[in-house]
Amino acid sequence: MKGTERRYRVFTREDMGAIPQLEKLAKADLELMEAVSAVLPFRVNEYVIEELIDWAAAPDDPIYRLVFPQPGMLLPEQLPLVLDLVRKGAPEEELNRVARKIRLQMNVHPAGQMTLNVPRLDGQLLHGIQHKYRETVLFFPAAGQSCHSYCTYCFRWAQFTADDDLRFAGHETESLVRYLRAHREATSLLITGGDPLVMSTELLRRHVEPLLDPSLEHIRSIRIGTKSLSYWPHRFVSDSDADDLLRLFEEVRAAGRHLAVMAHVSHPRELETAVAREAIRRVRGTGAIIRTQSPVVRGVNDDSDTWGALWKSQVQLGLVPYYMFVARDTGPQHYFKVPLAEALEIYNGAYRQVSGLGRTARGPVMSATPGKVLVDGVARVAGQEVFVLKFLQGRDPSWVGRTFFARYDPEAAWLDELQPTFGRTEFFFEARFREIKKELEEGVEDRKPSPWPGLAAVRAEEILRPWRRSKSQIQQTPGERH
Ligand code: SF4
Repeated sequence: MKGTERRYRVFTREDMGAIPQLEKLAKADLELMEAVSAVLPFRVNEYVIEELIDWAAAPDDPIYRLVFPQPGMLLPEQLPLVLDLVRKGAPEEELNRVARKIRLQMNVHPAGQMTLNVPRLDGQLLHGIQHKYRETVLFFPAAGQSCHSYCTYCFRWAQFTADDDLRFAGHETESLVRYLRAHREATSLLITGGDPLVMSTELLRRHVEPLLDPSLEHIRSIRIGTKSLSYWPHRFVSDSDADDLLRLFEEVRAAGRHLAVMAHVSHPRELETAVAREAIRRVRGTGAIIRTQSPVVRGVNDDSDTWGALWKSQVQLGLVPYYMFVARDTGPQHYFKVPLAEALEIYNGAYRQVSGLGRTARGPVMSATPGKVLVDGVARVAGQEVFVLKFLQGRDPSWVGRTFFARYDPEAAWLDELQPTFGRTEFFFEARFREIKKELEEGVEDRKPSPWPGLAAVRAEEILRPWRRSKSQIQQTPGERH
């Protein structure tokens, strides 16, 4: 098919200057890009550059903002530190030292990813696995910890930096299988990254095939988190092992498992190319369901019309809109964030534009430390304006489905910036959350079965940090998260 074949060529910080479209940039602008990309990961492939970005609209083009470093991604006090070194041509070692310091100010692993979510097996932490919610286990294959391009707002940005201790990954399928055998409360496995579809099909098969064993029949669904449909649809169409990948998908289906491709799609343009459409057609032909999700991000998709168009085109193409997330409290969140109140307006505005078939996306949703919290609306209760919030997932399963209120605050952009209502000093779940943390801190989880065993997984320093900070702390340290 015309337009569906292309050689994968990628650019990183080292060869940024070789991107023809950047040749017109002033030296000062290129230096700014180099400075930001010394701290935050940068990687873009030729397909994204040539077919997705509208260069006439750059730097305001949404796909440009999605992948190219922008000066505002570093705080005013951070940027000059690296920019000065870039201008002086300082040695990489010195640049890396300063970059690393800045990274550590950026709430490297939000929502307890490195600590609260990492489970144990036989007393050993399993670093390539996360188990936050009872039903769902996340697996991070070591070879899948990069992407075909990097998103500027990525909440897993730390995985792509050179700091080994900022990453989490594991390649132990055997450990995963043993863990899943021991955890029959888990029914769904999410293979994620980075993007696991950067792996060859042969490698992916080594991870997936053992999961189809009858001893793991409680794992009813396998999800693959990926942005390949957007960044490299050729993965499903013309890569040398594209057909093998589709065969693998068919085998998962033939084994009676639900297979969901959890596609990260930020903007409707990502689904407009001939090759993206062909990729969708081929994936759907295997019996896999494509569900879509993305955060709402300033300058990329922060308006209702973009989301309305996105959901409409997805329904037309046979995709299922699944989540509109809130940008997580990590990395350059200060630059990309959209306050909860505004995100809700964007969601509602888009919701009104689509038919019932497009109203399957839940949002705006925060994947926060205590759980996945939906901003369900704004209401006036007993004379007070409040956010109506609801747990879609919770560290304690009994929280799921519970509605609660927070004081309306037009500026708040994350759960820890919200305050309880009606004279309460804390939210209903905080006492139990403290208990969970305490049990884990005391090692109770290692000695007796937990309410659900996946909770047996924490290091004390993360647990002891209060998850909710006061407003004044937030104002004093705008860029520092936790
Ligand atoms: S595709 Fe996902 S994991 Fe990869 S850079 Fe984008 S947000 Fe991060």
